[in-house]
Formats: sequence, structure tokens, C-alpha cells
Amino acid sequence: MNTEIFTAHESNVRRYGRSFPAVFTKALGATIWDEAGKPYIDFLVGSGALNYGHNNPNIIAPAIEYLVGENILLSLDMYTAAKRDFIEVFVGSILKPRDLSYKIQFPGPTGTNANEAALALARKYTGRSSVMAFTNAFHGMSLGSLAVSGSASTRELGGVARHDVIRVPYDGYPNQDFDSAGYIDFVLGDTGSGIEKPAAIILETIQAEGGMNAASAAWLTEIHRICRKHGVVMIVDDIQAGAGRTGEFFSFEFAKIEPDIVCLSKSLSGSGSPFSIVLIRPDLDIWRPGEHSGTFRGNNLAFVTAGAMCKLWSDRQFTAGIERTAIKLQTHLDRLVAKFPKCIEQKRGRGLMAGLKCRSQAVVGRVHDVTFENGLLIESSGPNRDVIKVLPPITITDDELDHGIAILDHALKEQANGD
Ligand SMILES: *Cc1c(COP(=O)(O)O)cnc(C)c1O
Repeated sequence: MNTEIFTAHESNVRRYGRSFPAVFTKALGATIWDEAGKPYIDFLVGSGALNYGHNNPNIIAPAIEYLVGENILLSLDMYTAAKRDFIEVFVGSILKPRDLSYKIQFPGPTGTNANEAALALARKYTGRSSVMAFTNAFHGMSLGSLAVSGSASTRELGGVARHDVIRVPYDGYPNQDFDSAGYIDFVLGDTGSGIEKPAAIILETIQAEGGMNAASAAWLTEIHRICRKHGVVMIVDDIQAGAGRTGEFFSFEFAKIEPDIVCLSKSLSGSGSPFSIVLIRPDLDIWRPGEHSGTFRGNNLAFVTAGAMCKLWSDRQFTAGIERTAIKLQTHLDRLVAKFPKCIEQKRGRGLMAGLKCRSQAVVGRVHDVTFENGLLIESSGPNRDVIKVLPPITITDDELDHGIAILDHALKEQANGD
């Protein structure tokens, strides 16, 4: 396969091309093919941006129809029919059935654009400058998002000061015995703590890049209560865990909380087309007209595919299928944990957002290489990159899921026998 052009001309910064040294040409559902025609099961899914699989016909068909019809593609934040249709179906299929009444902000198309807008709004609303963020958090690559991220290498990237962030321990950090919510509640109420009241607390309900750490419902409920008690805006960064990944549309539904601000992106378009929104509690929506902007707020092709994706959530058969697949995946992973104690320390995550914490980065590295050879794409996460991320499309077929897990099983067996 000819990869010379990439090594000759593309920046040294490239990463996935190095870990998956193939040239990909085609994809459908959970399968992606390289130029030589070799199929791979995709458990990487664009880092959570392809929850509905590649080229999902229910989502792509309306896009094709839209493209050939001389319809609007870019519209800044003007009113278009595609945008009207999206808002209608998002409210009707997603917000209303969950009894939610958020206002919708359309920022620039990436996840970090949504987080920056959410942080800016919380700071504007409260008039406070600092924000509380968690250990092992990941919120994106622009300066405000870098500042609230936990990883040392990520935070150092900006090359400028990242102040106004108060780092606090996530659920289960440094261990299960530590009451992190109790700590946060205490320091916010104690005038001797030396910690000023923040504008917001920003969190992921499952820290994907941070190692697939899942917060419990009890902890999330407690953080929600603490935010209310101290007048702090609760921002849920649902960019990777949302849009169906956990088996529910929003990752916080299981905890029965209603965050003040929710950021969605990655799988929101359902197609891999860039798109993000910020959901805002109505009384918090104090933006002045035009105060926040972005050229690509009006990606109409994404409105069309996102609308098609949202419609799926009104279909009981669709949601029942996802719940069933989530259970099936969890059963598979429980079996791998029991079978390979020499390689795997524990199962992580929740629903279809799962991970396997391994004994070392070396194990994960070798499993990655063997699975790639045998036709499966996986990636690692966590501060020590010793967690295997298992993110199949939520619409994966039973056969594809079984096949992907069999490749993973085989690679783990090789490690267990080899050591
Ligand atoms: C991917 C991700 C982001 C950043 O999204 P980009 O589109 O890469 O800017 C932010 N938060 C979380 C939780 C993510 O997974």
C-alpha cells in the first residue's frame, strides 16, 4: 500500500495513520475496508463520532437527496428550512420525550467550540472567572478547553498560562474510598479553603480519553445538588458519551439529573459530518445577539443527517436494539475479564461506552498490533494508555460484534500465553 505521500508531505503530528498503517477506501456499518480490500471491524468509530456506523442508510439517504437538490449548504446562523427541520425533530424526538426544555446554541462545528461557548456563557452569567474541572478530564484542543483538561501533556500544549481552573478529584480518584463530592461541597462552603467560588463545574459522565472512568449516578446527583446549593453552573461535556453512546441519548439520563448546560458534538450529525450544539437552561441564555459567533455554525448537511439520526430515537425497535446490544457487549467483556486475568485488570465504562483496563501499556500495544493484523481497529486511552477503548457502532450487528470480540479474544490469548 502506498503511504509515501503521507510521510513525505503530512506533518509529523499525524497519529492514527501511524497506528493503522493502511489506506482506507470504503466503509459500511461497523466495517471499514483498506485499499487492498481487507475488511476491519471498527471499534474506533472516529473516536465516538460514528456511533451510527459508517454510511448508515437511514442517515445518508436524506443527505444524498439534499445534495442533489441545489439546497443550502452553508448559512452562518441564518434561518434555513434544513435548520428549522432539525430543530423541530430535535425538540420533538429528543428533548420533549425527556421533559427537557433547553435553548439550542449553534457554535462552530467542533466539540471544543461547544465547550468554549459553554464556559464563556457560564463566566458571563456568574461574573466569576474560575472553573472547576476534574482529574483526567479531556475537553478539547483550544485554549479554554485545554485549560480544563487534566492530562499534563495536553495542558502544556497551549504554551500560554492556563489559569482560572480549580482541579478537583473525579469520582473514584484517587481511589473509591475518597469522597470527592463531599470534598467539593466542603471547600465551596468553607471560607478558609482558599478556593474561590467557580463560575461552573465542567464534567464528563464517563471520561473517555481519561481512561473510560464512569461516574456513578449517586456521584452525579450529588454534584448536581452541590452546583444548585452553591449557585454554580453545571456543564456536562457530553461530546463523546452523548448522542447514544451509553445506550441512552444523553449519558446523564440514568442519573435523572438536568444539567444547566450540555455540550454535544462527535456523533451528533450521525454521519461524521462536523456539528455541535450547546443546550442551555432558558434563564441562562443571556447571550446578546451576535455576541458569540463562528463561520461554520450553519452546516446544513449536518442538520439534515442529525435530523435523520434524531428520528431514529422515536422508533422503539431501534432503542430496544441498542439496549440489547449494550447488554451483549457487557456480557462479552465480563467473559474476557474472567478469562484473561493476567492481561486485564477490570472492565470500565458503561453501556456501549466500554473499556478494558489492562495490566500494562505494553499489553495494550501488542493487542492493538495483533488485532489490527487480524482485522479489528481499537484504540487506547488513559494517562498511561493502558486502557483498551471498546466503542463499536451502537448499531453494530450481532455477527460483526461477535467477530470483533473474537479477534480481541484471540489477541489477548496470545498475550496471556506469551508472558
Ligand atoms: C472529542 C472530545 C472533545 C473535543 O471535540 P473536538 O471536536 O475534537 O474539538 C471534547 N470533549 C470530549 C469529552 C471529547 O471526547
